[in-house]
Amino acid sequence: MRAPTLKRDTQLVHAGRRPADFGGVVNTPVVRASTVLYPDIGAYERSRASKFGTLRYGRYGTQTSFALVDAMAECEGADGAVLYPSGLAAIAGVLKALLSPGDHLLVTDAVYGPARNFCDTELRRNGIDVTFFNPGIGSSIGDLVRPQTRVVYCESPGSLTFEVQDIPAIAAACRSPDITIVVDNTWATPFFHRPLDLGAHVTIQAATKYIVGHSDAMLGVAVANEPHLQRIRDWAAGHGILAGPDECWLALRGLRSLGARLRQHQESAKIIALSLADHPAVEKVLYPALETDISQALWKRDFSGATGLFGVELVSTSHDAVRAFIDSLGLFGIGSSWGGFESLILPSKPVRTASDINWKGPLLRLHIGLEDPDDLLEDLHRGLDMLNAANRRDERKHNVKHR
Ligand SMILES: *Cc1c(COP(=O)(O)O)cnc(C)c1O
Repeated sequence: MRAPTLKRDTQLVHAGRRPADFGGVVNTPVVRASTVLYPDIGAYERSRASKFGTLRYGRYGTQTSFALVDAMAECEGADGAVLYPSGLAAIAGVLKALLSPGDHLLVTDAVYGPARNFCDTELRRNGIDVTFFNPGIGSSIGDLVRPQTRVVYCESPGSLTFEVQDIPAIAAACRSPDITIVVDNTWATPFFHRPLDLGAHVTIQAATKYIVGHSDAMLGVAVANEPHLQRIRDWAAGHGILAGPDECWLALRGLRSLGARLRQHQESAKIIALSLADHPAVEKVLYPALETDISQALWKRDFSGATGLFGVELVSTSHDAVRAFIDSLGLFGIGSSWGGFESLILPSKPVRTASDINWKGPLLRLHIGLEDPDDLLEDLHRGLDMLNAANRRDERKHNVKHR
């Protein structure tokens, strides 16, 4: 179900909805089912030959999940989608579906931490050779490709450090039909970035984040064209993977306001990122939408917007001062995940094995929610001024000691 002529906001409003099928109600209802009854045995036998997207048995989904599948495929411009109970389950399910023992996998060094862990443990244990690559690699990825390479796994921008990857260059350098290019597109969502249009074959969404958008459900989505779609879908169905109808309904509800929310996340995040970049307690802000960011050119070329998540590198600061800063904030929640309506902050410790990172000071990850950015800035500046004063005191102590 593709409607490439519609603009993105219009797509978000209409994708996957079929009011006429439900007595006119605007939203596809939550359809909960295990058993589905048939009028006679002939109808039951015929149903067994039917395709995905028809109501047969709860494990294969109901109208609620079918609506979300249609909507996500349409938004990413693809043949279809597969749903999973979490974003991590989508990553694991896609990689397991595409890789066999003896295969070689290339993974960005800036990959989401639990995905790195999955590659390093579960995949290696299953005889898959894993090589991590520098997220800035571009067309040089060709040098790492082997005859056994089957998947190139990208995440753009990367987790915690936010490097945008040159997907068109990577796709051009890995043009073999044996290689599938997978992109985790959680940060931008299809609203701001469509990797399938840039040469990728499969995209992954932790819908838990911006699609659901309200911090109240876990859900993952893989979107793909044939022939990859069938392989990924068969693996998920064969392993009994499904997403619950309530989660699908929450994702559909979130999707309708995704554009409006993301525009506001972007506007507020830009204001805050720019202001933080000027603060003496801050060394650098890691956000592709800033002109000073190393990824600015690629981001401008391939993305139509930036969302509310970015990194902050502080100047050299003690661990205790960073903890006191975080605890001093009144409007930033401390907790995992992001993409909801609320602002969050966490210290971050990227693991990198294939790229040099030399941080001058501690790293933070901020999610800018839908609060008024003036209030958020006031909160952050109060804390950062305190941090700056603590840094100066530490400097003076240090100077006295070493005089
Ligand atoms: C959170 C996240 C995931 C995992 O999603 P869950 O729904 O929490 O399992 C995957 N990729 C990225 C980039 C994420 O930020």
